[in-house]
Amino acid sequence: METIEHMLNGYRAFRENMPDDHQERLHAMVEAGQHPKAAVIACSDSRVDPALVFRAEPGDIFMIRNVANLVPPMEEEGTFHGTSASLEFAVLGLDVPNIIVLGHAHCGGIHAMIRGEEAEQKGCKFVQGWVSILSSAHRRVLATMPDATIEETQRACERNAVLVSLENLTTFPWIRERMAAKTLKLHGWFFDIETAQLEIYNSKVGHFETVE
Ligand SMILES: [Zn+2]
Repeated sequence: METIEHMLNGYRAFRENMPDDHQERLHAMVEAGQHPKAAVIACSDSRVDPALVFRAEPGDIFMIRNVANLVPPMEEEGTFHGTSASLEFAVLGLDVPNIIVLGHAHCGGIHAMIRGEEAEQKGCKFVQGWVSILSSAHRRVLATMPDATIEETQRACERNAVLVSLENLTTFPWIRERMAAKTLKLHGWFFDIETAQLEIYNSKVGHFETVE
């Protein structure tokens, strides 16, 4: 009950601190519709909130969150493609000019992939299937870093998750078309929750660079 009360008090404070012209602003926002300048694919992790990190305002970011900030490859079969549907809405419906994949350190989803037995013991079934999107990247990390500690393996897999998602984005034809027309850019970012530092993937040199 304490948690719920805390949340409701947060809501009351939010209402009290709205700007004086909030009615006009809200009305204008509804009238104009949404025109976000970026879709962000982030993890559901409670410690990584893109709106807070980027000090975003309502309307700035089209947010897509799932376990381990993953984009699945384009698949024709099946019906319940939550992440693909969100992407389709952002790209075809809203014409977002940027898609940012935001990875993060200490990701529980990546941990579940590396330590599959722990997730299984907790009765997880969907998580294992979902994070298997990263299986080949995990094998690559193990092959190229055979002496790495589990922590080092996890950090490498977390950064690789961003690259796999970027690669999978290009399996959607409407994303490829817009990239070719230069109306859509893809970005790979990584947030370290321990240091609150952001890194950006530089595809020209093939690694992540800290943002100053
Ligand atoms: Zn995560």
